[in-house]
Amino acid sequence: MTDHTPNSWDARADAHSFYGFTDLPTIHERGTVVLTHGDGPYIFDVEGKKYLDANSGLWNMVAGFNHPGLTEAAKAQYDKFPGYHAFFGRMTDQTVMLSEKLIEVSPFQTGKVFYTNSGSEANDTLVKMLWFLARAEGKPERRKILTRMNGYHGVTAVSASMTGKPYNALFGLPFDGFIHLTCPHFWREGMAGESEAQFTSRLAHELEDVIRREGAETIAGFVAEPVIGAGGVIPPPAGYFQAIQAVLAKHNIPLIADEVICGFGRTGNVWGAQTYDFVPDAIISSKALTAGYFPMGAVILGPDLADRLQVASEMVEEFPHGFTASGHPVGCAIALKSIDIILNDGLLDAVRDLTPRFESGLAELAQHPHIGEARSKGLMGALEAVADKPTKAPFAADLSVSERIANACTDNGLICRPLGQAIVLCPPFIMTDAQMDEMFDKLHTALGQVF
Ligand code: PLP
Repeated sequence: MTDHTPNSWDARADAHSFYGFTDLPTIHERGTVVLTHGDGPYIFDVEGKKYLDANSGLWNMVAGFNHPGLTEAAKAQYDKFPGYHAFFGRMTDQTVMLSEKLIEVSPFQTGKVFYTNSGSEANDTLVKMLWFLARAEGKPERRKILTRMNGYHGVTAVSASMTGKPYNALFGLPFDGFIHLTCPHFWREGMAGESEAQFTSRLAHELEDVIRREGAETIAGFVAEPVIGAGGVIPPPAGYFQAIQAVLAKHNIPLIADEVICGFGRTGNVWGAQTYDFVPDAIISSKALTAGYFPMGAVILGPDLADRLQVASEMVEEFPHGFTASGHPVGCAIALKSIDIILNDGLLDAVRDLTPRFESGLAELAQHPHIGEARSKGLMGALEAVADKPTKAPFAADLSVSERIANACTDNGLICRPLGQAIVLCPPFIMTDAQMDEMFDKLHTALGQVF
């Protein structure tokens, strides 16, 4: 148990650090776990307690916490050239090489990359690009952005407006013109007697209806995660992206894949779009892009958007947007190494090899009388807790069942994340079979402690 005494790390954390995304009553009761270091998929707190991190930090530390290749790449670049931006006619060699690499591994033959510090900023940048393009092309009314309920796209004011979470109302968001369609979760949203194919077709019709209602000429883009991540790990129903893309194509609306979680291996392919067999018009990337070793995001534009944006920018001489650390050379050097490790050093293969074990571990836990659904794609998964399995009735929110399971796991030395009524798992790609078994054993124990 965390030491709460005055001047303990917990008390010091509470005194001067403001928590985001943290259940404050739980923190007051349990204290803050203050971490000092990591080893492979394990992290250690100030009291020396060891935890297996089944969350890869926040979906990002895919290569674990002390990968020598990544720390060496960072050190070498810090020694050589510790920082610069990608503006005013200057950019570093690392940035040039990373953009080449990103286009090479993207589903696009050609294209262009713009760098940010986070996934949220990458989504904001994408929306500003679409707005800039609309005005330059004489269509200033083309501003609306379509996303889905429970989709997660970030926390800055625009990316939070894209995010389909009810808590955004606490900020008076979303802004006008951000429209959220039905969450593509067949288990929860499918109607009685409806097949998965009928559900997909209903969602495509809904999209068509929304486009007709709003006017296709007012819509700038549709942004979707291939698998919804922070909304509770929700893989789409069969045929979803094909059905959606057909509707969008009819109305000339670009489809943007937010690959912040799915990108670079999480679903068993480099891109989630590959896993679901579609080619988007642009990709939003972050997290595994640097394996979590540097804060970095990227907007990867396919050929059509890249060419049009180039023309639009030349009309007014520049695209007036960017961040101080856009294209930071240390981030780029780390990203080049991270991509190399994932693609050429066996991490993508490891995802594919580990996936059957992950799926069978989830399926076994789904036998529990209070686990209503186990869902996953590649190495991202969720277990949905329910009060009543046959009716799928959820537990009352104030019972915090998922929070209690996650807390029991923390006590047992396992980090996993409560998300709504679900427990989310997103193990690092370097996990061994034995560590995965340890993860499921600890979860099993926690379920026994809570129910
Ligand atoms: N998009 C997706 C799909 C995400 O999962 C996240 C973060 O979890 C973001 C965007 C926002 O990224 P960041 O937290 O780096 O701003």
